[in-house]
Amino acid sequence: MLKITNLHANVGDTQILKGLSLEVNAGEIHAIMGPNGAGKSTLSYVLGGRPGYEVTEGSVEFMGQDLLDLEPHERAATGLFLGFQYPVEIPGVSNVQFLREALNAQRASRGEEALSGGEFLKLAREKAALLKLDMEMLKRQVNVGFSGGEKKRSEMVQMGILDPKFAVLDETDSGLDIDALRVVGDGINAIMRDPAKGVLLITHYQRLLDYVKPDKVHVLAKGRIVTSGGPELALQLESEGYEGALESAGVA
Ligand code: ADP
Ligand code: MG
Ligand code: MG
Repeated sequence: MLKITNLHANVGDTQILKGLSLEVNAGEIHAIMGPNGAGKSTLSYVLGGRPGYEVTEGSVEFMGQDLLDLEPHERAATGLFLGFQYPVEIPGVSNVQFLREALNAQRASRGEEALSGGEFLKLAREKAALLKLDMEMLKRQVNVGFSGGEKKRSEMVQMGILDPKFAVLDETDSGLDIDALRVVGDGINAIMRDPAKGVLLITHYQRLLDYVKPDKVHVLAKGRIVTSGGPELALQLESEGYEGALESAGVA
C-alpha cells in the first residue's frame, strides 16, 4: 500500500531523512519508534506534503501512485490521513463545520454526493460515541482550549468520519492518561484494523502498542530505519532503551 524507498528530505539546509525505506501492506499496522529528533515527525510531514519539507532523493508510492507528485489535498483525497503530534487550533471554526467541509470535499473529489447536515450529524455522533468524546466538544472551535487528551480524541473522531485507507499517526499517545490511551487505542483498532487499510503508528513509548498490536516495529534513528522486528522489539526498546537496543542490533 505504502512503499517508501531511499527517502532523503531536507528542512531548510539541514538534511533530516537520510535514506529511509519502508513498506506497509494492506491489513498491516507498523509502529515507528525512535529517539527524539530522529526524524519521525519529519517523515509524517513529508508524507503529508507540508511546505518547507523538501524531498531531495527517493520515492514514495501510495496505492500505485507517486505520492510526492500530489498536492496535499490530493493526498488526502486518495485516502491518506495524517494525525499530528501537535494538532492545530482553528479559531472561529467549529469542529462540526470543519469535519463536514473536509468530508464533503473528499466525497466530491471521489464523485460522491455531499452528506446533508442531518446525515453528517448522525455519523459524527456515532464516531464521537466510539471515542467517548462529548458531542459538545465537536460544537466547539477546532482544538481551541482543548486538553491534550481531548485534541487526540477529537482527531480520532476526525479519522473515523473521514474513514481513510491509510493513517499516519504521530505520537497519538502523547498527553493521554491511561483511560484515554485505551479509548484511543480501541478507536484506532475499530477504525483502521481492516484487511484493506494500513497504519503507520509513530510513538515514543511501548504502552500504546499494548492496545494496538503492531505487525512490525521499526526503529528510526538518524534519519533512516536502522532495525525492524516484531512487537517484541518494542518491549526490548522499553527495557534496554534505544542505545542498548541499537547496540544489541549491531547498529549503534
Ligand atoms: P522526532 O519527531 O523524531 O522527534 P523531528 O522530525 O521532529 O524528530 O525532528 C528531526 C530533526 O529535524 C531534529 O533535529 C529537529 O531539530 C530538526 N527539525 C525539525 N523541524 C525543523 C525545522 N523546521 N527547522 C530546522 N530543523 C528542524
Ligand atoms: Mg519528538
Ligand atoms: Mg516528533
